[in-house]
Order: sequence, then structure tokens, then C-alpha cells
Amino acid sequence: MSGPRAPKKVGVVSLGCPKNLVDTEVMLGELRRQGHEIVGSLDEADTVIVNTCGFIDEAKEESVDTILEMAAEKGKGVEKLLVAGCMVNRYGQELAEEIPEIDGFVSLDQLREVGELVQIGSGPPPPGPAHVVFDHTAPRLLTTRGYAYLKVAEGCDNPCTFCAIPSWRGQFRSRTIDSLVTEARELEGEGIRELCLLAQDTTRYGEDLGLGKHGLLRLVEALLEATEVPWIRFLYAYPTTLDSELLRLMGAEERFVSYLDIPLQHSHPEILTAMRRGGSAEGYLRLLERARELAPDIFLRSTFIVGFPGETDEHFGHLLDFVERAELDHLGAFAYSPEPGTPAAELTAGQVSRAEARGRHRRLLEAQRPIALARRERLVGERLRVLVEGVCEETEHLLQARHHGMAPDIDGRILINDGTAPAGELAEVEITEAYADDLVGRVVGPRGVPGVEPAMDRAANL
Ligand code: SF4
Repeated sequence: MSGPRAPKKVGVVSLGCPKNLVDTEVMLGELRRQGHEIVGSLDEADTVIVNTCGFIDEAKEESVDTILEMAAEKGKGVEKLLVAGCMVNRYGQELAEEIPEIDGFVSLDQLREVGELVQIGSGPPPPGPAHVVFDHTAPRLLTTRGYAYLKVAEGCDNPCTFCAIPSWRGQFRSRTIDSLVTEARELEGEGIRELCLLAQDTTRYGEDLGLGKHGLLRLVEALLEATEVPWIRFLYAYPTTLDSELLRLMGAEERFVSYLDIPLQHSHPEILTAMRRGGSAEGYLRLLERARELAPDIFLRSTFIVGFPGETDEHFGHLLDFVERAELDHLGAFAYSPEPGTPAAELTAGQVSRAEARGRHRRLLEAQRPIALARRERLVGERLRVLVEGVCEETEHLLQARHHGMAPDIDGRILINDGTAPAGELAEVEITEAYADDLVGRVVGPRGVPGVEPAMDRAANL
């Protein structure tokens, strides 16, 4: 064994979804706790960790490309390359064989051991699902400003035939309400104004703890009671387990924001059956209508998959028709890619070519554009409470912000071209223009939480 271990200068590249970002933040917290220095650029790093995503083909390609890019930096200041996350549990052995520049792996069960692993390295784990779920005792280093994700559970027990996530993220396992309340209080102490609750299957929260069908409702109530965080939202509702009491609470409680991200995946009964998703187009439309009744200022988002095996022109037409009727505020879409080991990957009949799937993907997004635009145009002239994110990514002359119907990163932004407000704080904005993706507005006043008086000149430095 070598002598005393020197702290490392570690750079972490985080790929994939917000759930993965939370894992990255836990690793960053552990690294800092163990005395390592977190650096923001490759030039400063002697150790690089790539936290990978293995969701679909595109994500896997991006993960491998990033690992190769980092491998090319070895010997130019970077001494060690570690790979973490989904790809480790799913393809660790293959990565070890194909990319010998990788010095070590951090599996999904080893997030909290990362401080040690950057010193000693570790081989890939045997392929298989993760078992661990971290709790509030994990030191977490936030990478977001003004908001934070709160991971309420890990894994998934649903049988969706296109999805391989349960095979490496493991069985559904919830954190306790006490652990989540403790973490939420700590995040509030760090100054966050928005909590985004998430899991692979958020609406099933607590079932495994014996909380029955109202687990997520109980959790949200506990968070409302124990904190004063002005915005609490949850992401990724599963349509057949969504508790309508949650919608009722949204309508009654301003701090539980009226926003529903409900991936429906398709509308045609034959495709839904082949996906083993349950539900029906008419049932989904009733659910959306009910959501609008119970929480009139609700904003709705859904995600769909096109090109699933067996999807005919007629099935796709059904989906287009559904999207017109649903009038969603935000829509995401994926072109299907077969995931090894899933039941859908075994389907041979009715294959949709990649070109056709990409064409349907484009047509679905095009069909949504006028709907999204009309939904946003209704907001022109309205005064909305927003969370200011900071200076616009493209130009320092604008600020960017979100209203309660826009979740971080996915639902577009409000570009502020008149007035200023501090980043990470709430303000009031009048919407002056609407586009299919973004809104434009001007600051008309701070409307923060009581006792918080924003310093209006801070934004310029962020
Ligand atoms: S709900 Fe379905 S799509 Fe989502 S993670 Fe679970 S199995 Fe995959």
C-alpha cells in the first residue's frame, strides 16, 4: 500500500436527468467532506468523475463520448478517470474491457464511498440492480440556485415494457418522511425557494412504507407544515396511481404549486397495452380535466414515445388527435429505442424504422407548437410570481426566470428585458410577449417571502 493519501482536485461531469444530478450532488458532498477539492474546470482537475446516464441510446452514446473525451485528457493534468452512475451498474464490465483508461468505477450503491474510491479506484460491480438509498445524513453539495431537487425514493416496480431502468436502479424503495423533512429543512436553511420532489415513480411514494395510497400527500403535508419553502412541486406522476387529493391540495394551498408532470407515453389502447402502462386516452383526458377543475391555475406537462414496435400510422394519428384534445402546456417526446433486456426489445412484428420514428417525433412536436403558443399567449398582460434564475445563458443583458408552471430546465423560461431582481429569489413579473418555448416579461416588483427583502443589485454579478 502507498503512504498517506493526498487530497484530490476533482471535477465531476453530470449527465442525464435530475435524479442523476442529485446523485452527483451527494458525491460532491462526500468528496468535500473527505477533504478533496471540487474544481469547476478540466484544467484544474487531477481526477475526473463522469456520472453517466444509460436511459436510451442517445444518453448512452453521450455517456460513452464524454468518457472518451475525458480519457483523452489523461496525461495532460488529469491523472485519474472514474465512471459513476447508471452505466456502471448496467455496462460496467464492458466499459472496463473497452476503455482501459478508466481507473475506477462508482456503482449506484457506492455513491457515499466516492471519497475513498478516488484514492484507491475500484473495478466494475457485477451487473445487477442497486439496493441502497441514501438519506439526509448524506452530505450534499447543491449545484442549483434558488431550487433543489429532493429525491424521495429510488428504483421502480412498474412493468413498462420499454424501460430498463428497474433492472439497474432496483426495486422501489422510499425514504422516510422524517428523513425528507430533515433534508428539506437543511435545504431551506441554505436559502432555496423551491423544492422539486422526484423519484422514478413519485406518486407511489410511501407505498412500501405502509403509507397506502396517500403517501405522497402525507409527505407534502409534512413538508408544508415543517418548512416555509414558498414553492413545493413534484415531478413524474404515474397516471394510474395519481392521488386526486394531491390535486385538491394544489388548488387549496398556494405553496404546493399547481403543476403536474405526468408522462403518459401514448394514447392508443393497443400501444398502451403493449407498453403495459394501463389507462386509456379517455381516462387520461378525464384526469387532465379533473386536474384543471381542482387546481384552476394548473400547468400540465406530459411526455410521449413514438415509434414503439407495432405503432401504425393510425396509432400515431390517434396520438396526434389526443395531443390536440389534451391542450398541454408542455410536451416532451422520445423516438423509441429498443433497450436490451426489456420485453419490448423482443418484439419483432411491426418494427418502425428509425427514420419513420424520427419523422413522427418531429410531427408530434410540430402539432404541439400552436397549442403551446396559445397556452402561453393567455399569459400576456398577467402579473406572475417568478423565481429568478440569474443572467440569461445567451446574453448578460437579460435575466431569466420561471413561473410556477415551469419546472427547472425543461419547460422554457421567462426572459426579463426590463428591471432587475436578485437571482435565486422570487419577484413579480408582467408578461409582455409569448413564444412557443419562452415568455418575455418585465419586473414589476419583488414579492418574496415575508421578511425577505431582495437586494436589487445582486443579480448583475451572477
Ligand atoms: S414508471 Fe415505467 S418508464 Fe418510469 S422508470 Fe418505472 S418502468 Fe421505467
